[in-house]
Amino acid sequence: MTNLLRSAVFVGLASILSACGGDAAPSPPANASPKAGVHDIDRAGMDTSVAPGDDFFRYANGTWLKKTEIPPDRSSAGTWSTLFDLAQERTHALLEAAARSTAAAGSDERKMGDYYASYMDEKAIEDKGITPLRDQLASIAAIGDTRALAAHIGGGLRADVDPLNNTNFQTTRLFGIWISQDLNDPAHNVPYQLQGGLGMPDRDYYIEPGQRIESNRSAYRAHVATMLKLAGIADPDAKATRIFDLERRIAGVHATRTESADMAKGNNPWMREDFGRRAPGLDWTSLFHGARLDQAPTIIVWHPAAITGIARLVHDVPLETWRDYLAFHAIDRYAGVLPKAFVDERFAFYGTVLSGTPQQQDRWKRAVNSTNAALGEAVGKAYVQKFFPQAAKAQLQQMVANIVAAFDKRIGALTWMAPKTKASAKAKVAAIKVGIGYPDHWRDYSTLEIVRGDALGNAERAESFDYEYALARLARPPDRSEWWLSPQTVNALNLPVQNALNFPAAILEPPFYDPAASAAVRYGAIGSIIGHEISHSFDDQGSQFDASGRFANWWTPEDLAHFKAASAKLVAQYNAYMPFPDLHVNGQLTLSENIADMAGLSATYDAYRAARGAQTDAQAGDDRSFFISFGQSWRSKYREALARQIVLSDGHALDQYRADTVRNLDAWYGAFDVKPGQHLYLAPPDRVRVW
Ligand SMILES: [Zn+2]
Repeated sequence: MTNLLRSAVFVGLASILSACGGDAAPSPPANASPKAGVHDIDRAGMDTSVAPGDDFFRYANGTWLKKTEIPPDRSSAGTWSTLFDLAQERTHALLEAAARSTAAAGSDERKMGDYYASYMDEKAIEDKGITPLRDQLASIAAIGDTRALAAHIGGGLRADVDPLNNTNFQTTRLFGIWISQDLNDPAHNVPYQLQGGLGMPDRDYYIEPGQRIESNRSAYRAHVATMLKLAGIADPDAKATRIFDLERRIAGVHATRTESADMAKGNNPWMREDFGRRAPGLDWTSLFHGARLDQAPTIIVWHPAAITGIARLVHDVPLETWRDYLAFHAIDRYAGVLPKAFVDERFAFYGTVLSGTPQQQDRWKRAVNSTNAALGEAVGKAYVQKFFPQAAKAQLQQMVANIVAAFDKRIGALTWMAPKTKASAKAKVAAIKVGIGYPDHWRDYSTLEIVRGDALGNAERAESFDYEYALARLARPPDRSEWWLSPQTVNALNLPVQNALNFPAAILEPPFYDPAASAAVRYGAIGSIIGHEISHSFDDQGSQFDASGRFANWWTPEDLAHFKAASAKLVAQYNAYMPFPDLHVNGQLTLSENIADMAGLSATYDAYRAARGAQTDAQAGDDRSFFISFGQSWRSKYREALARQIVLSDGHALDQYRADTVRNLDAWYGAFDVKPGQHLYLAPPDRVRVW
């Protein structure tokens, strides 16, 4: 719900609506030409033959869309992937230097260099074959009873999901664990347990009818068989069929992605000792012991029906099938650090079949991504020292303060909201903690062992280290200053239980942010991103948390009814978007993001108007520049397979519809002379205003 962009697996994605064409469009704004090197809107990338009122995304980006080819190793192209490339290249340079350095053993620099170099050493990986996985596979083969099965499943759990901050609900492990502040008690951290266990991105891939999705299922079954075959496991085809059937049964008990995003549905504290009664079939004592959670008195069960259903499957499905299933996932999970045949097979399914990407990324890019996942803040510390100017931090803090003030003012001006609800909303705005660039405190990696030449072992140890780090939260109170993204990540986050925001260094770059750009261009791009994250505190989910991060209702019934009615209009607005003739946007699934886009753009527009003060258009830019800058920040193209994956399983609408958020703002109509009859025109009562 709360991040700006879809999860990292999707980065680089994107698709396009057909051009609406139509009436002559207003010419682009004629604000003063910027100084050389200063970022401005991209006039050459626009298509002014398209009326902005018909298709604003194409008006702002049409020529770019026509000219841009998605690189063969990508499933999308656009503003985001340009910034992603920049951060990746910079990180690459840092890691190459670290790999060559003679930094002291045990130092962060040495660990980064050794991790990266080990991942890059394809010859050593090839020579070892499947050997680095031998211990894992042997321990799976030795599972002799249901108690051992539960202990193995528990021992393999990691902190690999995040229902509130990064909204990542997917793990191939049978359950996902997340450890953070208790929804119901801001003074304590607690484990959250989520459903898991699927190799494809969502339950719909196993359940929904249709030829396209059926062909994904066949391809997945073949992928499972191929992986088993490559690992030298006997009888791969029959095993693949049984593994697939087991996953289909797991999918059958899973909550939908829309249900997962509903915090009220996820807030189910279970006493640890009650699991055996509430979810019989699984030896929970052994599982929690394996997962090192046997000291936690309470666990918040996010998907109670799925947890119960999976426990029953552990009882009902033969042990032999579970062993095959666990072996396949161990191989598949570490395929990136196994020999080339494994790497290529994994890419053929996940990259090409599921995302439509023809060509795999270069090895160095995958090595950078893997090092970022393993040692994110060690790399991040080096990254900001080299690439993030301190001056930017102060300027951005001022922009944030201006947008927060605009948001606060909007709350004060709401005519429908009761004074009591307003007071709670204002208290929440005032308490937001904003992180710019990088965290105040860096993670300590001193107990993480990285061994040069042991790529798979390094990946395993990094995941265990990360889980230890998460478990350690159980012994201390919540820390509102903790970050949930590394500084070299191109994204931004709202953290509902911390009532805090993270804006990593890597997103604070042109075209989103250039300190010398006009106010219109700055506020339209980075400002709208800041506004989006602030607004997540007041979307359909975030508005259920109070200033302290407690999941508690602070609304009067009348105010809540008004808010829900406005939200329902927005659901209908997005349900009407049809990226493909057989697929529409899911307005409910994307509601939180759409509220954040709309409320964020509205507050940011106000902040822009206030910030320009007495400045002329030539100095500050005009409204058209503001909106075009916003529309261009969503510039992207997707391959069809990926676009479909996003529509089915992602909380964010496709970028083209995010650009069309403008149709809910009155100022956009004036700036572009939008008239009734145009595609995006909404009569004033149909424009959604929540905040
Ligand atoms: Zn968001």
